Amino acid sequence: MNDCLFCKIIAGEIPSKKIYEDEKCYAFYDISPQAPVHFLVIPKTHIKDANALSAENADVVAHAYVKIAEIAKSLGIAEGGYRIVNNCGKNGQQTVPHLHFHVLGGRMMTWPPG
Ligand code: AMP
Ligand code: ZN
Repeated sequence: MNDCLFCKIIAGEIPSKKIYEDEKCYAFYDISPQAPVHFLVIPKTHIKDANALSAENADVVAHAYVKIAEIAKSLGIAEGGYRIVNNCGKNGQQTVPHLHFHVLGGRMMTWPPG
């Protein structure tokens, strides 16, 4: 998508601290980390948010979760645990309208979320 920040990151038009990529997803460190380890996993296809998922395009979600598990192990946060967050829409406080999963680890999380 032309004017999408995360599509531009995938295309290399905006720099990012890449962790991993393959044909379906791209993983990189969040520019404003909220935990000692905070990275994002995004599908390479532009999907706006969780509301835009359907049986036709949802394979990228399972793929992203498999990669999250692998990356979490490689970054040393798997054993201690971590949180996966997907903000959706206005009430979810989504700020970038390209589906993404936050992975936060390296500290104890709190609940409920704000
Ligand atoms: P959300 O608020 O759930 O839409 O999350 C968007 C996330 O993208 C925020 O945590 C931002 O810090 C992060 N972010 C915004 N711009 C960049 C960027 N250029 N590189 C890496 N992360 C970014
Ligand atoms: Zn996009």
